[in-house]
Amino acid sequence: MLQTSTAPCVKCAKCNPHCHTFISSYDELYSPRGYLHLCELANSQQIAMDKNLQEVLSHCDLCKECETICPFHLPITQMILEVRHRCQ
Ligand code: SF4
Ligand code: SF4
Repeated sequence: MLQTSTAPCVKCAKCNPHCHTFISSYDELYSPRGYLHLCELANSQQIAMDKNLQEVLSHCDLCKECETICPFHLPITQMILEVRHRCQ
């Protein structure tokens, strides 16, 4: 079980224009809400915490630009790090 819930993410996408991995890919998979969605799925055991998930989450360089814009002040990088460290 993760220590930090991903439930408060309302997927508003306000963070997307501030995330360089989304800007460079235009792929939701590499957006903050995409990363958080994967974390949520992993936390609820709907996907495996494996090397594939770790690889996707490793694209986030923890710059925290998303956290400065998120209206809910979600600890996005903490959530990503927690799942990254649990992947095997
Ligand atoms: S992380 Fe915050 S800004 Fe980004 S989609 Fe979720 S609620 Fe919106
Ligand atoms: S911390 Fe990660 S998800 Fe947030 S803006 Fe930076 S690269 Fe994107």
